[in-house]
Amino acid sequence: MPCYRCGARQTDPVRGASPWKRGVRQEAQVLICPDCQRQHDLDLDTCGTCQSTALICRLGEVECRSCGSVRLARADAFACSGAPPGLSAEVEAALNRVLGRA
Ligand SMILES: [Zn+2]
Ligand SMILES: [Zn+2]
Repeated sequence: MPCYRCGARQTDPVRGASPWKRGVRQEAQVLICPDCQRQHDLDLDTCGTCQSTALICRLGEVECRSCGSVRLARADAFACSGAPPGLSAEVEAALNRVLGRA
């Protein structure tokens, strides 16, 4: 996966951790190259709990690697990953009924 911002290709680190950074932007997993990490307009998604940008995006979920909080991705991001649009509200309503929530 290239850098989302400049399109540079990741090269294998000689030793140790890669200087490339993973993040989530508009609820999609992205990689940021070392050059672009110095920019201040990265526009990465942040954790709603601790404001960290160390997020990982899984199918329908965004998890914070700093504090461990998990939130659901937006419904439209969900739709892009294959779920039928308009289904999530129905599913949520059905879940609420099953779980006895108002
Ligand atoms: Zn870059
Ligand atoms: Zn967090």
